[in-house]
Amino acid sequence: MRPEENLAKRLVWRHSLSPRIDVMHLASLYATVEVCRFPVDVDGVSLFLKNKQRRPHILVSEALSPRRQRFTLAHELGHVLIPWHLGSIVDETDLINSIERSTYWDLEGEANRFASELLIPTDWMQSIVASTSDAAASTRIVVESADVSIQAATVKLLNSLPAGYVFARVHAGEVTWSGNSIGTLASRVPYGPVDVDSLFPAAEQHSWAAGSDGYYHWWQLKDALPLPDIEEGDDWRLLLQQILDDIPLFDPNKLRSSIHGVIAAANGSVRENRSTERIYAVCLNRLEGRANDASGIQQVIKHALFSRFLVAKVRDFRV
Ligand SMILES: [Zn+2]
Repeated sequence: MRPEENLAKRLVWRHSLSPRIDVMHLASLYATVEVCRFPVDVDGVSLFLKNKQRRPHILVSEALSPRRQRFTLAHELGHVLIPWHLGSIVDETDLINSIERSTYWDLEGEANRFASELLIPTDWMQSIVASTSDAAASTRIVVESADVSIQAATVKLLNSLPAGYVFARVHAGEVTWSGNSIGTLASRVPYGPVDVDSLFPAAEQHSWAAGSDGYYHWWQLKDALPLPDIEEGDDWRLLLQQILDDIPLFDPNKLRSSIHGVIAAANGSVRENRSTERIYAVCLNRLEGRANDASGIQQVIKHALFSRFLVAKVRDFRV
């Protein structure tokens, strides 16, 4: 846990809080809080931070939805309480934008992680995860019980779930946001057009929750997969050539090198427990995660010889 998260955790403990957190009351203990209309596109402002002469002052935009207002207020409280945040700070706190944009250690990242830990305490989150059957169910409970946006709940889940979870938000047939739980060896699902049903058919579990900006899909991937029952002795080069011959719409050399690239990266990511079953699972997860791009990988996966090719290729990694 990082210092700003510890700070939020101690605050929750000191005030005996549990979700739903009354963030307005809490912030009022440490700063003068005002909800107001800004003439420009700003979500929140913190003034007079660590100023000996003046009490800190937080302004939050009335134009935000109630849940965004709660998150922004918690974020501004982070600026007030994190000791090295000084002066005045003007914020546009759109959560996903700021995650994509901010470097991990800058002030905005710190204030966001403070807000996330304050509104969705990790211990509480873990108890929700343990008591629900899938990630989408956890999402719905966190949104309702903690009174946070589905985006904030998703960010927290990405940081709380064990390795092996892949997330993608899909709106009008396109992936508009994606991520993996920490330690997951599969790649992030690329942004852009997608056929959701084709993604990760070998997953242990697929669940989804509806948000106003799309469907929030979660897959729990298997850590290892038994190899299909295929006899030894196949030459993967010949099999791949046969597959490529059957899908003439794609440049065979480009497609061959994308397949090799994905498999090499997958194999390289398995540093521990290098069993054939595990390497096979990671290769399959990575290829399936790329199945929505335009390079033809999806056609390769659908080909009748694909399993024989991948098994032969993975067996070749044995030492
Ligand atoms: Zn900020």
